[in-house]
Amino acid sequence: MLSTPRARVAPRAARATTGAGRRGEGSRRIGRARAVSEPKPASEIDWNAIGFGLTPTSHMFVATCDLGGTWSAGEVVPFGNLSLSPAAAVLNYGQGVFEGMKAFRTKDDELLVFRPDENAARCEEGSLRMSMPPVPRDLFQQAVMKTISANADYVPPVGLGSLYLRPLLIGTGAILGLGPAPSYTFLVYCSPVASYFKGGQLTPIDLTVEETYHRAAPGGSGSTKCIGNYSPVLKVQLEAKRQGFSDVMYLDARENKYIEEVSSCNFFCVKGNTISTPALQGSILPGITRKSICEMAAARGFKVEERNVSIEEVMDADECFCTGTAVVVAPVGSITYKGKKAQFCDGKTGPVTQAMYDELTGIQQGRIPDERGWNVKVPKDFHL
Ligand SMILES: *Cc1c(COP(=O)(O)O)cnc(C)c1O
Repeated sequence: MLSTPRARVAPRAARATTGAGRRGEGSRRIGRARAVSEPKPASEIDWNAIGFGLTPTSHMFVATCDLGGTWSAGEVVPFGNLSLSPAAAVLNYGQGVFEGMKAFRTKDDELLVFRPDENAARCEEGSLRMSMPPVPRDLFQQAVMKTISANADYVPPVGLGSLYLRPLLIGTGAILGLGPAPSYTFLVYCSPVASYFKGGQLTPIDLTVEETYHRAAPGGSGSTKCIGNYSPVLKVQLEAKRQGFSDVMYLDARENKYIEEVSSCNFFCVKGNTISTPALQGSILPGITRKSICEMAAARGFKVEERNVSIEEVMDADECFCTGTAVVVAPVGSITYKGKKAQFCDGKTGPVTQAMYDELTGIQQGRIPDERGWNVKVPKDFHL
């Protein structure tokens, strides 16, 4: 356990709320899902077979916030199931936000995490939108660092992937009538994930434009990573996959004409020397990868435009790509709209997409200089 004096204040509160750390308490675990959530030692992991699903790790971070709105210092505890009241606000009313970020091992065996300050800030904004007490930014960042450090053995070897981190802020207190929860839990758990592209070609994705369903609307919650935004896209995504597409592109809810984004990543198109992406107007998720790509593209001399991008214009682009922590930079092979299919770069990766992918992954993995100071080195001196 963490040996800092402040961390010792929290355990009782953390455990009372979540049950985390009481490994012997199997009978109270939801669905007795032990087999799934029981972590393997890192030494038993086949790094070439990890994929993108959950590979549980040994530890997670837990902090709690009571009625007074004060956050506990939190602590690293063994990974395990939570124990919640059936009346927990998150279960009944979806009061929760999450984040997604990645840590990488460098060739010098250092651990780097990409722009955690941005995730901390976005989590704060999201928590305010969902009427939850924000996790102090320094607590958020410390929690992420401690989680990486406690699970250092689970960060894949160079070139074989990354440690995906999932910070999660949820209303865990019981409440029957609609209202904010009386108490909250902030967790960070993680899972090693493969890199999408192990050497070789990036795999192009085939998108279909959705004209009936919308992901978000003006004034809604589309710009937060609130948990309720994700299940509604599944119906549409599953149908697209059944038809052979990789994912769905959403249009704006007002005019059904301008691109918003894909189910869980942002969208860019390239025409000549101009790189365009839909402007952030409240219904699009402000991606940290998106923001980074905009800065990198401008520095390379591209004209970067954040504005309304119509689907007609996109069908005529030179290249298109999607961005997000999970997919990094994914080339779009084709877009299908009203029965018409636009093919980009003959299904191969376009030069701009490839350059953006190479530069971003190079920085994240410590292979090229990080001139903007985006990476944060994970200290190795946490005492766990
Ligand atoms: C998380 C997410 C993104 C990508 O954001 P990053 O910060 O780049 O990971 C884009 N769109 C949606 C809907 C998302 O949930």
